[in-house]
Amino acid sequence: MNSLRILMVASEIVPFSKTGGLADVVGALPRALEALGHDVTLVTPRYYVVDKKKWELEDLSGSLSVPMGALGAYDCSILRGTLPKSKVSSYFVEHDAFYGSRTGLYGTEEEPFSDNDHRFLFLSRAALELCKKIFFKPDVIHVHDWHAACIPALIKTKFADDPFFAGCPTVLTIHNLRHQGICDRDFMSKFEIGWEHFQPEGVEFFGHVNVLKAGIVFSDAVTTVSPTYSKEIQTAEFGEGLEGVLRNRVSDLTGILNGADYEIWNPATDTAITANFSRLSMDGKETCKKSLQEEFQLAVDPTVPLFGFVGRIDEQKGVHLIADAIADLSDLGVQVILLGTGDKTLQDRLRDLSADKSDSFACRLAFDSGLAQRIYAGSDFFLMPSFFEPCGLGQMYSMRYGSIPIVRSTGGLHDTVTDFVTETKKGTGFTFRGKEGRDLLEAVKRALEVYRDQDLMKVLVGNAMSKKFTWESSAQGYLDVYRSLTGDSDG
Ligand code: ADP
Repeated sequence: MNSLRILMVASEIVPFSKTGGLADVVGALPRALEALGHDVTLVTPRYYVVDKKKWELEDLSGSLSVPMGALGAYDCSILRGTLPKSKVSSYFVEHDAFYGSRTGLYGTEEEPFSDNDHRFLFLSRAALELCKKIFFKPDVIHVHDWHAACIPALIKTKFADDPFFAGCPTVLTIHNLRHQGICDRDFMSKFEIGWEHFQPEGVEFFGHVNVLKAGIVFSDAVTTVSPTYSKEIQTAEFGEGLEGVLRNRVSDLTGILNGADYEIWNPATDTAITANFSRLSMDGKETCKKSLQEEFQLAVDPTVPLFGFVGRIDEQKGVHLIADAIADLSDLGVQVILLGTGDKTLQDRLRDLSADKSDSFACRLAFDSGLAQRIYAGSDFFLMPSFFEPCGLGQMYSMRYGSIPIVRSTGGLHDTVTDFVTETKKGTGFTFRGKEGRDLLEAVKRALEVYRDQDLMKVLVGNAMSKKFTWESSAQGYLDVYRSLTGDSDG
C-alpha cells in the first residue's frame, strides 16, 4: 500500500484553537491517518490564542511572500510545531494584523470580522506557497469548510499549469453548510481565478462570490460529516441555497461520519472531571453529578434527574426549544444546566429564565472546555434538539460519559443515536422529530420513565457507554475517497 502525502488546511485545530467541532475533527483525523501509515501536513493560522511556548513552535527562517492578486504580495512568517501525540507537522501562518493581534478567531456571530474573506484567502494562498517553500508535494489536498475552500479553485485555475501541483486532487469537507464565505465581487481581483468563473456555474452567488460554492464546484470530491447530512443538503430545507450545486456533484459527494477522540474523551482518564469512572465502575459518576449540582448551585440530590446542554447558543442547536420547555421541565421536577455562547437575544432569554427558575435551571454563558467535560460527566441526560446537525460531537461524547442523549433526529444525530426500546432493551438514547418545545418534552418524559426504573436505566447507560465511533473507521472512509482520486486502489 502506498503511503499518501496529504496537505490539510483548516481554520481551527484542537488543541491549538477551537470554537467548535471542526477543530476536534482536524485535531483527530490526521493522527488516525498517520496511524494508518500516511503523512499529513497541517496548515492553520497562528491566532492570539495559539500559545507559542506551550506548543513549542519554532520560527521557520525567512518570511513567506503571499501573492494576493491586485493587492500585491503580503509577507508572513511561518511557525512549525507538531500535533500532540503524533508526528504530524503543523504549520502556523503568522500575520499579526490578520490573526495574531485579534482575540477571537472570526469575530462574533453578530459581528464577524469584516475582512474574514481576505484573511482566509490569505491562509489558502499561504498554504500553497508554503508547500513549495518546504518542498512538501502533496498527493492530495484536503480542505475544511469555506475558510480553505479557495484552494480547490486556485489549483484548477491559477495553478493549473504549475508542475508542483500537477495532477494533485482536492477534497473539500463541509462541516456546516450554513457558513459559506459570501463576499463582494471585488474579491475576484484578489482571488485570481479569472473573471470567466464569476458566473452561476462557477463561483457567483446572486451577484456575490461564494467561497464555499467555489470549493464545491472545483474540488474533485466533496465530503460532509455524516451520511444523513450528505442527503439532507441536497434538499431545499437543508441546502442553504446550494442544494442545486450539491446535486450536480452528487456522484462525488460522500458522507463520512466523524469519530470521537477517545484519548481525550474518556471518563476513566479525563483530568478535568471531579472523579473518574468507567462502565464497570460507575461510582465516580455520582461524585461528578454531585459536584456539578454544587457548581451550578442547584440542590444536591442524586435522585433528581440532571439534564445538560453544551453547545453554541444558536437557532441551529434548537436552544429555543429548551427555553420554551423550561417551565414544563421545571414542573417535572428535573434540573437543567446549560453551557454555551452565541446569539445575544437567546442568551438574554436564558439569563432571565435562570433567574426565574433558579431552582431547576442554571446556565453559564461562556466557552469553557473543562466545564463542558464536567457536564458530560455529571449529567444523566444530554439535550441536543438541533434543527440541523452536520454530525454533532456532543452526543458522542455524552454517550461515552454515560449521559443519555435526547436528540432531534436529523443529520449526524440520526446516524448516531438510536431510540431506546424498553421491551428489547436496545438503543442508546431518545429521539424526536417535531420542532416544538412540546416535542422535546415528550422525549424527556419517555426518558424519565426509564430513569425511574434504575435497572433499566443501567442497561441504557451501559448501551450508550459501549458505543464507539472510532476515528480509525472515519479515516478509512477518507482514504477511500483519496484513493478514488489518486487512482491508487490498493488501499
Ligand atoms: P458545532 O461544531 O456545530 O459547534 P459539534 O457538536 O460538532 O457542534 O461540536 C461542538 C464542540 O464544541 C464539542 O467539542 C463541544 O463540547 C464544544 N463546545 C461547544 N460549546 C462549548 C462551550 N460553550 N464550552 C466548551 N466547549 C464547547
